[in-house]
Amino acid sequence: MKQCCYCKTVKSLDEFNKDKSSKDGHYSACRKCVKERKRIYYSKNKDSILKKCKENYFSDVELSRKRKREYTAKHRDSECLRAKFWYSKNKDKKSEYDKKYAKRNIDKRRLASKKFRNNHPGRKRADTAYRRAWRIKATPQWSDLKAIRMFYEKCPNGYHVDHIIPLQGKNVSGLHVLNNLQYLIARENLSKSNHYSIEHNGIK
Ligand SMILES: [Zn+2]
Repeated sequence: MKQCCYCKTVKSLDEFNKDKSSKDGHYSACRKCVKERKRIYYSKNKDSILKKCKENYFSDVELSRKRKREYTAKHRDSECLRAKFWYSKNKDKKSEYDKKYAKRNIDKRRLASKKFRNNHPGRKRADTAYRRAWRIKATPQWSDLKAIRMFYEKCPNGYHVDHIIPLQGKNVSGLHVLNNLQYLIARENLSKSNHYSIEHNGIK
């Protein structure tokens, strides 16, 4: 047991932070008082503390970023929560920042997206198909877009992904759903166009 030097309450030792330099190995103030004093100090000196933090951060940006990455990797869950909480309070600020960032890095982003699309041709086709299906409202809410994307990405060479019932057919219109997709040899797909043979597909 030990008496706190601020609130004068007698508390058990585990309510005091550890301090190797002190005789009994603990701070003279209890955790609660230390926390409260830190809070008061911070609120009184917020500007200068933040300024100092900023200066420290920018004195060696690379090192700061590395430290931040390491910290985030170690405390992934709590950092995720913190980020989510921050986002819920600062949605406008974030969207404003994103817009500015996009404007500043327009060429960089275009290049990155082009590179990504060139490396993932299936993904590119899946996105194009989705946009088209979305425009003509052929994608129901329950459509499994992840599975559809995988289907496009796994399309074998020389084949196209085809809607069994075309999205804008003459007689019937199909949906942009996994069950309505098939792989067709490229040429066959082109000649089939938007024609859906009712007889051939067994619909009466
Ligand atoms: Zn205390």
